[in-house]
Amino acid sequence: MSERDFLAKPQRRKEKLATVKTLRLCAFARKLFLSLALLILSFPVESSPAYDLVILNGRVIDPESRTDAIRNLGISHGVIKAITSKKLDGHTVIDARGLIVSPGFIDLHQHGQDEENYRFKAMDGVTTALELEVGTGDVDAWYAQRAQKSLINYGVSAGHLAARMAAMHEPVTFLPTGAAARRAATDAELSEMKHRLEQGLKRGAVAVGFGIQYTPNASRWEILEMFRVAARYGASCHVHMRHAGVKEPGSSIQALEEVISAAAITGAPLHVVHVQSTGGPATPKLLQMISEAKSRKLDVTTECYPYIAGMTDIKSAIFDEGWQEVFDIDYKDLQWAATGERLTKETFDEYRKTGGMVAVFSMTEEIVTAAISSPVTMIASDGILEKGKGHPRTAGTYSRVLGHYVREQGALSLMEALAKMTLMPAQRLERRVPSMKNKGRIRIGADADLTIFDPRAITDKSTFQDPAKYSEGIRFVVVNGVLIVKDGQLQPTLYPGRPIRASLSSN
Ligand SMILES: [Zn+2]
Repeated sequence: MSERDFLAKPQRRKEKLATVKTLRLCAFARKLFLSLALLILSFPVESSPAYDLVILNGRVIDPESRTDAIRNLGISHGVIKAITSKKLDGHTVIDARGLIVSPGFIDLHQHGQDEENYRFKAMDGVTTALELEVGTGDVDAWYAQRAQKSLINYGVSAGHLAARMAAMHEPVTFLPTGAAARRAATDAELSEMKHRLEQGLKRGAVAVGFGIQYTPNASRWEILEMFRVAARYGASCHVHMRHAGVKEPGSSIQALEEVISAAAITGAPLHVVHVQSTGGPATPKLLQMISEAKSRKLDVTTECYPYIAGMTDIKSAIFDEGWQEVFDIDYKDLQWAATGERLTKETFDEYRKTGGMVAVFSMTEEIVTAAISSPVTMIASDGILEKGKGHPRTAGTYSRVLGHYVREQGALSLMEALAKMTLMPAQRLERRVPSMKNKGRIRIGADADLTIFDPRAITDKSTFQDPAKYSEGIRFVVVNGVLIVKDGQLQPTLYPGRPIRASLSSN
């Protein structure tokens, strides 16, 4: 060890100590600075808004908790973060004084799934529109077509009609009109249909769809086999039943027995679509049967829409020989959608050759009111508009229930009506799609899909003559935290809609 080294060591130790002290001082200063910064940031007056979107002073109605009270909502990242009577700050603030704040409406039966249709749905308060009755034959392509370019949330079922058309080597159209509409399936075709439905479910289809009246020669065994596939995947079967009306044999009562049996035998959940248009005068009996089946612990649900006419393709099997007796109607009760004209035998025969949509006036106001006010029904539209033509239910279903049946007729309460539009349809799908537990509710952690409307002004404007009319009284609509309707005006070119899809599986 040299002398220099001997002297130098303590010197270096001192320097080291000094450095440590300086570092400690630095750390202390940094902590102090951070604490001060945090203090400043959390100081209420200087803070940036706590939420992306705040909805103040609205009458919040949540059918799950039965809340009906003035509350403020705080929303961030597309999720409800606060429900309170305290004041909240947001980047965007809506004053909902005098308005109802409801969970966004969920339509389980919306055929039209494009930009035109989504606009009318949004202006009627719908934040999620699902095509579950007819469905699709290609689940991946269906979702891909809508990804990143949908105004509202969307989803689809695997369709028995599409599987049947494909198995019979027909072009897959909306409703079958060829062999798939008319003949029984072979065993090989039946296996092919099962395989196709199963593939659809593995690709995340939300449910399984049926239009048995459009395939009258699909055997009862064929329907059971399809229910068995659905049951294996916990998928609900959304069924347009085999028969309509009251004429025996072949009544809607017999048709309901078929599908309730199929649900009991296979364990698949059953959802009967548009019970009032299928049931006609038998509707109260169908509703009684569904309620009795539920009391036996069968998973059976149903839906209706608030109009006295249905609509379908004039070329479909529904208008095969004998349709007047089935519905107890005549040519004059049919209205050609494209022109609004009532039909005669001559025009019926002419249009039957070309095909096209026709409105069928087969219900009464009493039947519709009984269906809407029944505790077992949900509201669903069965809507489709094509270039502004179609049935007024596409644009007006939800506003019509809230304006005409709740406000004007007092046929049901606001809480009951909103449950039929939000909570009940969400619950229908929860078993297969657990993310639906975050829809149809206003609670902390739920998706921020909200419909804010004026209960004194809400009214449907669409008619059979002019079906492409926006409803009035829907003031704001929020989809995944994004305002798509603002002060009653649609916000164009926004695409916050997300897919509603079951998880993909390999077995
Ligand atoms: Zn239908």
